[in-house]
Amino acid sequence: MKDFISYPALDAFTNCINATSLKMQDKPLLFSQALHTGQDPKIITQNRKAFLDTLEIGKDFKIVLANQTHSDHIAIIDTYENRGWEELESAIPDTDALITNKKEILLGILSADCLPILLFDPKKEVIAAIHAGWAGTHKRIAPKTVLKMAEHFGSNPKDIIAQFAPCIAPCCYEVGEEFQEQFKEYKEALIEHHDTCYLDIPLVNNLQLQEVGLLKENIHQSGICTACENERFFSYRKEGGCSGRMLTFIGMKS
Ligand SMILES: [Zn+2]
Repeated sequence: MKDFISYPALDAFTNCINATSLKMQDKPLLFSQALHTGQDPKIITQNRKAFLDTLEIGKDFKIVLANQTHSDHIAIIDTYENRGWEELESAIPDTDALITNKKEILLGILSADCLPILLFDPKKEVIAAIHAGWAGTHKRIAPKTVLKMAEHFGSNPKDIIAQFAPCIAPCCYEVGEEFQEQFKEYKEALIEHHDTCYLDIPLVNNLQLQEVGLLKENIHQSGICTACENERFFSYRKEGGCSGRMLTFIGMKS
């Protein structure tokens, strides 16, 4: 079995690199990829390099990570340099979506329940990586990223492939009353069961992406719940807060 997940909808394009790291019981710090949660940065950096090595993409790729803040801030990456890879300080500040049309740059999202979304426009050769928790979803970060791709690179939303990485699914994502108001336009994503409300974050993002023109058949779910499959995935909710994070990448070969 591979030590990471990759996605058939993106693998169909031979120049598209895509992967999500796993939680691994036999690795230091369970193979966490997060520098921002207070764990030993030396071990995290080793884990990151080990993950990159398993992708077998050579040494030329630069890696860009953001200091994610549940915002709707989007950055266009046009310089070929590592950001936030070997040290936290150089991460793109206060940003939750990254876009580039440059080859050999990996855009990455760290997560443990939140929804990472990868976008790929094979026609204009533009990629994006998005961090969508409930707050980012409420701020419509995914559709805003699509609009930015259209505005800046001329992407047609009909050409864009969206791939969702594992996140907490409605089976496990219990939410408070206030979410009824916040997500009232997406009633089908609020599931009531025995007086408890559950929110379907992937469904809200799916609908939002369709609202800006993505085709339903181009939006691909992971079908994995991080809380249900907590052995293989970090789940902040299931673990009652955790330091571990998976890393989800997208990039293009030259
Ligand atoms: Zn679940």
